[in-house]
Amino acid sequence: MNINALYQQIILDHNRHPLQYFTLEHFNRQIEGDNPLCGDQVTITANIVDSCIQEAAFQGSGCAICIASTSLLMQAIQNKPIDWSQQLCKHFFAMLNNEPYDQSLLGKIEALKGVNQFPVRIKCATLSWHAWHALSENNCHIISTEDAS
Ligand code: ZN
Repeated sequence: MNINALYQQIILDHNRHPLQYFTLEHFNRQIEGDNPLCGDQVTITANIVDSCIQEAAFQGSGCAICIASTSLLMQAIQNKPIDWSQQLCKHFFAMLNNEPYDQSLLGKIEALKGVNQFPVRIKCATLSWHAWHALSENNCHIISTEDAS
C-alpha cells in the first residue's frame, strides 16, 4: 500500500468510526465549531484538571475530512497536558500551511497533509483544531456539569 492509499484509509476509518464520539458526562469546558462553507458543526467537551486533559470528546456532523480530523485530534490529546495539545495544534496548522512541522509529533495525523492542496477543505480539517486551541486557552464558554444540576 503506498503512502497516499494508507493516508486515505486512515481518513476513511476515522470518518466511519470516529473516536471519542459522544458528550462527556462530566466536563468543565465546552466549545462549538461551525464551518458554514461546508456545513460542518462540532461540539467538543473536555474535562481539564490541573492543566491536564483528563478526557475530551466530540459530537456533530460534517464531511469526512472534518470528522476524521476531529477524531484524530481527540485520539491524540487524551491524558495529555494542555500545552502539549497547543504544540500539536501549532504543528498541525504549520503542516497545512506548507510550513516546517514535527512529523514525529503529528504521527498518524499526517494523513491530513494532502488537504493542503485543496484550500476549500482546509477549513474542514482545521475547524476542530481552531476550536480546541480556543478551548485550551480558555477562550470559550465554560460550563460545569456540576453547576448545572
Ligand atoms: Zn467539511
